[in-house]
Amino acid sequence: MATMQFHSIANAPVPSSSGRTIAVIDPSDGAQYDEIQRGTPEDIDAAVHAARQCYDAVWHKLAPAERGRLLMRLSHAVAENASELTAIEQRDCGKPTRQARADALALARYFEFYAGACDKLHGETIPYVEGTSVLTWREPHGVTGHIVPWNYPMQIFGRSVGAALAAGNACVVKPAEDACLSLLRVAQLAAEVGFPAGALNIVTGYGHEAGDALARHPGIDHISFTGSPGVGTLIQQIAAERHCPVTLELGGKSPQIVFADADLDAVVPAVVNAIVQNAGQTCSAGSRVLIERAIYEPLLERLGRAFEALRVGPAAMDLDLGPLIRQSQQQRVWDFLSDAQVAGIPMVAQGTVVDLAPETGFYQAPTLLRDVPPGHRLAQEEVFGPVLAALPFEGEDEAVQLANGTAFGLVAGVWTRDGARQLRMARRIRAGQVFINNYGAGGGVELPFGGVRSSGHGREKGFEALYGFTTLKTVAIRHG
Ligand code: NAD
Repeated sequence: MATMQFHSIANAPVPSSSGRTIAVIDPSDGAQYDEIQRGTPEDIDAAVHAARQCYDAVWHKLAPAERGRLLMRLSHAVAENASELTAIEQRDCGKPTRQARADALALARYFEFYAGACDKLHGETIPYVEGTSVLTWREPHGVTGHIVPWNYPMQIFGRSVGAALAAGNACVVKPAEDACLSLLRVAQLAAEVGFPAGALNIVTGYGHEAGDALARHPGIDHISFTGSPGVGTLIQQIAAERHCPVTLELGGKSPQIVFADADLDAVVPAVVNAIVQNAGQTCSAGSRVLIERAIYEPLLERLGRAFEALRVGPAAMDLDLGPLIRQSQQQRVWDFLSDAQVAGIPMVAQGTVVDLAPETGFYQAPTLLRDVPPGHRLAQEEVFGPVLAALPFEGEDEAVQLANGTAFGLVAGVWTRDGARQLRMARRIRAGQVFINNYGAGGGVELPFGGVRSSGHGREKGFEALYGFTTLKTVAIRHG
């Protein structure tokens, strides 16, 4: 693997105008092994310029079916290079091999899905007054900006950039400073399969420098931001100054609601997986389990046994969990756990960090806490680590009150065999997705995904995302 990475602008490797770089750290051992460019506003400007030129001269004029063919070629290239991308992501993000591979294959699937959608995105004709015909066109925004977090670089890039390209936009991407390498490789693959120079550009760097410059750039016609609620607020404020549309995919405190009639054999693995997947660093992690009081003790006992069996270690060992992304994230989880201790919140069980895990890596044993007071920050705030908060409830009304009782509304899981209750709960829960008797952490690429309230607004994934990456023009023709 190279020891220096460059921006990808107009299909070429480009150094930063700052001449400065950022160290790439392996979370499994805390050691540096590569460098990325520390992007500047000038670098962002060069990327936006390249994107605009490509949009005006080539991309915008390509037949949708041609764009689709290019995206399909990229999908195949990603699938063919899945092993390499898996290895890159595993080391860069500390993901166990199975997770890193799943992310690479999901990226291929996003491009496949949106490749097929390119030539199926069309407007309507609208019946209007006699002598006038009305039609609508779905037009791309132009140049779209994409700010991507570190937890699922390939998946989030795929769902956002895949849809934006399919809709006919040229893209400028600012990945997270902690996780860029797989996306830089994907940009090379895009160039190799024939993407025109400028359709896809990647500028690496810090959020407050390159990210801020991207959000402020007057040449950006739409911003897709996935990240923390605090930065989401900043982005929306910046974009508001020039009335630039924004999609915000923010955090969550997603509940898994388990009624006494649920199939607990299905519940236990699903609830555990929803919080330990990617070491809990998942926006749609099921980080609260709300349990009907009649089964509170027996279910906690079963969940406790499952937590105790979990193993944490270096990404290459491919255990249940890898390390957290960086030391500050580990510190963040420790702070939550020490607050729990101070508040006297009982711990039910913890998994184990294996002896082979280097002390310099950023490991955290998955932890199950019980009787978490609904107002405590462990029941309200996103830990973004493998910590599950259990709370008891009595009846549907209290379940709904607890489920909706945070600032977030991203995903919810409902576990019950009662069909009428399934629908009542799905209607009453405020969230972008509700899973009944399963939990998908966002689900497949076909399923529209996004939040309400502090979880954000706008939808990505599925066909719905294509609407967000286009603007609708109404054309009224008076012909008599
Ligand atoms: P973050 O907000 O710190 O960073 C996200 C991205 O924004 C990074 O690329 C970062 O460099 C950039 N950024 C940071 N400050 C910026 C600024 N001032 N201007 C412009 N860009 C800036 O978030 P994070 O710590 O990387 O990711 C974790 C958060 O992301 C969690 O809250 C998680 O829930 C959320 N998330 C949400 C989803 C979703 O789909 N809803 C998916 C993944 C992560």
